[in-house]
Amino acid sequence: MDDLKFGTRNKRGDWAPTARAEIAPFWAWPPQGLKVLKWLVGYVWPWNAFHMATALLYWYYIVPDVETMKTLSWGWALWLYAVNGAGIFVMYGAIEFFYYVKRRQGTRFKYNAKFPADTPSDVFWFKSQNIDNFLRTYLSGIPMWTLVEVLMLWAFANGYAPWVSWSDHPVYLAFLVFIAPAIHEVHFFFIHRAIHWPPLYKWVHSVHHNSINPSPWSSLSMHPVETFIYHAMAFWHLVIPSNPIIGLFQLHMAGYGAVNGHIGFDKLELTEDTTLDSHAYLHYLHHKYFEVNYGGDGLIPLDKWLGTWHDGSKEGQAQMEARFEQKVARMNARHNP
Ligand SMILES: [Zn+2]
Ligand SMILES: [Zn+2]
Repeated sequence: MDDLKFGTRNKRGDWAPTARAEIAPFWAWPPQGLKVLKWLVGYVWPWNAFHMATALLYWYYIVPDVETMKTLSWGWALWLYAVNGAGIFVMYGAIEFFYYVKRRQGTRFKYNAKFPADTPSDVFWFKSQNIDNFLRTYLSGIPMWTLVEVLMLWAFANGYAPWVSWSDHPVYLAFLVFIAPAIHEVHFFFIHRAIHWPPLYKWVHSVHHNSINPSPWSSLSMHPVETFIYHAMAFWHLVIPSNPIIGLFQLHMAGYGAVNGHIGFDKLELTEDTTLDSHAYLHYLHHKYFEVNYGGDGLIPLDKWLGTWHDGSKEGQAQMEARFEQKVARMNARHNP
């Protein structure tokens, strides 16, 4: 597929989309009916539908029965770790294998023309972004995800959290499912903004930012503190009356969904003329410039409201540069009064 119909390529070979990123259209006034409808389809399909499908699969086939989950034990915790690890291996591993190892679409739709495997760096274990990120995923990312999962299920099983049943309140629970991506975005924005505070950045978040040119294995390559508070978004379902299936849905949006920002390609070519949108560009810009796009896709556009939105356009770039200049000026004024 010709990626230059959708974007431009610079001298270095980096590709960028022509269309600028937009916040969710329901924020627009006057209302844009058709645009909202089109957006709704993308909101559900395919990513959130996938996260719901895996949540149901877990609930009916993977998660132990409630009696077992009343007691914390290594047995079912390690079982869940193994399933999460295998799921991530298949999902992230497939994207890595076809698009980064086999390189089946070369650098078409690729934001950064370089592949991490071709650029060894001292910041990584064994000088390899892939090995480093892979190991951190299994040593920190998935253990913390599983820890949150176990604690959440244990709390539900023991009645420590209000468990609403589908037969009693189907409309309320359907509504919760519908807004779960918004909970994701708001939770992620605030914890992410907090760990960009310099002392926390140095201690915690710099691990994730070692990957300036992220690939699928970068997604959950984080400091344990970060992966814990990131997946802890599922704990909102212990606070608000909810259901463990929705808790799992929230968790899968974090765990499986982390790959979205780190695919590195704007579109994955599935066949000659079918592509899968990655929704990765905003977070790619975050890895490139650090202090923009702390949140997600602009569903709850906190970046836009707080002035850290970079939509990929020239204006977005200029706005960011002006902000950086102001920051430098403020810092200079503080140091040289
Ligand atoms: Zn990231
Ligand atoms: Zn960050």
